[in-house]
Amino acid sequence: MSFAIGLKCRECGTTYPSEARYVCDFCFGPLEVAYDLDAAKGVVTRESISAGPSSIWRYAELLPDPGNEPVDLGAGWTPLRRAHRLGELLGVKELWLKDDTRNPTGSFKDRVVSVALSSARRLGFSTAACASTGNLATSVAAHAAAIGWPSVTIIPSDLEKSKIAMTAIFGGTVLGVEGNYDDVNRLCVELVSEHPDWAFANVNLRAYYAEGSKTLAYEIVEQLGWRTPDQVVVPVASGSQLTKIAKGFREFAYLGLSEGPSPTLFAAQATGCSPISTAFAQGSDIIRPVRPNTIARSLAIGNPADGPYVLDELRQGGGDGGSVSDEEILECMGLLAQTEGIFAETAGGVTIATLRQLVRRGSIDPNKSVVAIISGHGLKTLDAIVDTATVTATISPSLASAQAALGVHELVAAS
Ligand SMILES: *Cc1c(COP(=O)(O)O)cnc(C)c1O
Ligand SMILES: [Zn+2]
Repeated sequence: MSFAIGLKCRECGTTYPSEARYVCDFCFGPLEVAYDLDAAKGVVTRESISAGPSSIWRYAELLPDPGNEPVDLGAGWTPLRRAHRLGELLGVKELWLKDDTRNPTGSFKDRVVSVALSSARRLGFSTAACASTGNLATSVAAHAAAIGWPSVTIIPSDLEKSKIAMTAIFGGTVLGVEGNYDDVNRLCVELVSEHPDWAFANVNLRAYYAEGSKTLAYEIVEQLGWRTPDQVVVPVASGSQLTKIAKGFREFAYLGLSEGPSPTLFAAQATGCSPISTAFAQGSDIIRPVRPNTIARSLAIGNPADGPYVLDELRQGGGDGGSVSDEEILECMGLLAQTEGIFAETAGGVTIATLRQLVRRGSIDPNKSVVAIISGHGLKTLDAIVDTATVTATISPSLASAQAALGVHELVAAS
């Protein structure tokens, strides 16, 4: 049973019933799902959670009501791995990687989509839609296919080929827009008024969608033995994930489920699209929109909806934001693969490169624990590496040819 009690305006606190509403009638502020945490206290326990399924739905009491059964491909409960080799290289004593490449469609978006479409079905919708930088479209198309719903996913037309193919294979309608994500998003806001009967995961269902990200915080705490990490590095696009990870840590603390102080959060962005890290560095409350230009396409949101809330979280918790170049992103995708055996998409490169930058800057304490969120699988952004990640040598099928090639290429352990 869910302890969600409705929606609440993040700005003025006005409450609404659980419906497909996403802006406040009074102040146009964004709405979020509210819970009766006092009623949940003592009912949601470590034992009750541990007895749940190996997916985000082990936390069903702290998520929006999914109706009879959730729309579920098995999102979440991904590995939290201790990264000894990468930690040593970066000078971080206790580094953990939250490996969200291991989700049903290869990115963290499966968490938010499972929650959004469950709420959508409970609310009577039967068509799924979204505005996406890529991964959301894939996840919406997959979850819609699994329940027999039509889907309309809208993406920039020049996305990575692998992301377009991974979405189109599920058979929904995929619209490639000649423009960037911010153009796509504007278009979707117009489409919502034309098609109020479509569940746009991140527009009219956004309040529900966003809740899925809290499960990252819950899982990290549970996987650390019900203890909070000291520091968490989060890749940031719209900023929804970071703000909800913060909410997740707060809720677990309030419910007495976690031990340890609130983690300090750090925002990871690409220099080619860093409106939030830039505003943070300038001490500004205003996020100046940018025109994205980075290989980290999944993070390329130039006008981030939750930007101001990310700034609040970073400032309140003593965090910081960093931004890294495309060269650093590629370098750190390789570093992660070669030290830990994890193949992440460009966003993973952003997270690791930003972690390295913030350790060097002194914002991240290398003597305290760090969790880095690895949010998407490398097969999604093959375009970024196919020209450089190639065979060591091409040889004829003879021993002599193999020996010759091996002779000139000394075998070395990576990194
Ligand atoms: C969507 C996405 C994020 C972060 O998204 P927010 O809009 O900030 O919630 C991070 N990594 C990947 C791979 C994504 O697809
Ligand atoms: Zn309001």
